[in-house]
Amino acid sequence: MSCASFLDNRNSAPVQTTKKSKIALVGLKLEELESILTEFSEPSFRGQQIFEWLYRSRVDLFDQMGNLPSDFRNALSEKFIIHPLKEVHVTGSSSEPTQKFLFELQSGEKVESVLMKEGKRTTLCISSQVGCAVNCDFCATASMGFQKNLSVGEIVDQFLHVRRAAKTNITNVVFMGMGEPFLNYNRVIAAADLMNAEKGIKLGAKRITISTVGITSKIKRYTDEKHRYKLAISLNGSSQESRLQTMPIAKKYPLEGLLTVIDNYSLTSRHPVTLEYVLMAGITDNIDDALKLIDMLTGHRCKLNVIPYNDIGGKYKRPADDVIEAFIIALKKAPFPVTVRWSKGTDIAAGCGQLAVMESSVIN
Ligand code: SAH
Repeated sequence: MSCASFLDNRNSAPVQTTKKSKIALVGLKLEELESILTEFSEPSFRGQQIFEWLYRSRVDLFDQMGNLPSDFRNALSEKFIIHPLKEVHVTGSSSEPTQKFLFELQSGEKVESVLMKEGKRTTLCISSQVGCAVNCDFCATASMGFQKNLSVGEIVDQFLHVRRAAKTNITNVVFMGMGEPFLNYNRVIAAADLMNAEKGIKLGAKRITISTVGITSKIKRYTDEKHRYKLAISLNGSSQESRLQTMPIAKKYPLEGLLTVIDNYSLTSRHPVTLEYVLMAGITDNIDDALKLIDMLTGHRCKLNVIPYNDIGGKYKRPADDVIEAFIIALKKAPFPVTVRWSKGTDIAAGCGQLAVMESSVIN
C-alpha cells in the first residue's frame, strides 16, 4: 500500500496529497508508523524510534532524529513533514499568564489554542474543528460557521507546538477550544489516545477533558466504549425551554434524553460529569434558575461549573458581580459540588467561547 492510500484510509480527515503538501507524521500512531516503514524496507523497531521522536522529544527536524540512519532520514523527509500545523502568531495576556496561539493548517485554514497557568496546573485548551456547526448563540466560534474537522495530527500538533514554544510541562488538556468534539468523534478520541499513550506524551487520562454540547448518541457511544477521559457537558440552561433559548441543538437533543445518557455514563464509568453553565444577564442568571438547577440535578452524579459569560460583542451580557455572587450563594444548598470558572485571557479574547479566527485578525 502506498503511504498516500494508507493514510487516506485512516479515520482522520482525507490527507491532501498534492505536490505542495507532504504528509505529516504527527498524528500517526505506532502501528501506522510501522506500516509506513515497509515502504522503506526498514525494520519495524524504527516505528517506535520515530514515535518517541515525534511525541516524547521536542525535536523539529528529521536531522535531529539521531538514532535513524541518515539515508533513511533523507528518504523520510522526501515524502513527509513532521508537523501538520504552522505556528502563525502568539498573543500574551497583559494581566495573566495566558497565551493564545494561532496556527495554520496545510490547507490554509486557521485555528487557535489557549495556554493557561494557575498554580501547579498548566492547561491547554485545544480546538477540534475549524469553526463550528452547532451555532450556540453566545459563542464566538459560531460566527465562523463550520469549515472542517481537524485531523488527529492537527489536534495533537497543537499540544506539541505549545509544549515546545512555552517551554513548560502541560499538565492538563481540555477540548474546549473551537468546535464540537463529539461531531469529530473518531479523530478526537484518537488524538486523546495519542496524548495518553505510554511511550509518547503520556498525559494521564484524567488530565484530558472532552467538553460536548450534548450530542446524546455520542455520549452513549463514549460510555459503551469505556473511555477514561473526563467528560464535561454544556448545560447552559435550567430547563429544556431555557436551553433552547440560546442553543438550537437542544431541539435535536432534548434535556431529558441528555440527562438519561449522562446518568448512564456516570453509573457505568463511576465518574461524575461536569456540567458547564454559562451565566448570561437576564437569560440564565435568575435565582429561580439556581433553584431549578438544584431540583434538576439532585440525585445525579455530577459537578456544576458556573462560567460567567465572556463578552463576544453580541446581544448577551455578563451579569454584575453581585448577581453572580447571589447565584453562587443560592447554589450553596446544592448536594453536588459547584465551582466557578473565571475565564483566563479575556483581554486577548482567549476566554471560553471567545475563540474565532476572522481573516482580519490574522497577523502574518
Ligand atoms: N463545543 C463544546 C466545546 C467548546 S465551548 C461545548 O459546547 O462544550 C467550551 C465551553 O465554553 C462550553 O461550556 C461553552 O458553553 C462555553 N462558552 C461558550 N461561549 C461562551 C462565552 N461567550 N462565555 C463563557 N463561556 C462560553
